Amino acid sequence: MSEERIFSARGIPKWSVLSDDFRRRFWKKVIIRGADDCWTWIGHRDREDYGRVMIFAKPYPAHRISFFLYHNGKMNENKLICHDCDNKWCVNPNHLWEGTSKEHGFDHANKNKNRQV
Ligand SMILES: [Zn+2]
Repeated sequence: MSEERIFSARGIPKWSVLSDDFRRRFWKKVIIRGADDCWTWIGHRDREDYGRVMIFAKPYPAHRISFFLYHNGKMNENKLICHDCDNKWCVNPNHLWEGTSKEHGFDHANKNKNRQV
């Protein structure tokens, strides 16, 4: 398959190329707990300690793909996927939200402020 049939302009894999088999394999690398608990990614991790999943030989952040799969490919490519729980290995879609880099920075600043109190 050519690159443009697999990836969108921004390099996100197209929903149609992710097979049921891929989805099964993805969730096999996750310790799924209760809806409110952190779901731990047990697959490969990158140097920054985030989960990584290979899609057609390109590495993707596992939490981003989790969000992508959970929402059936409905993801704003211009936004970041942020963690509510600040747990880098967590891929629980309930702990993930779409935000701009500005919102993401604000979220972190807020959390740090709370931590200092
Ligand atoms: Zn979590």
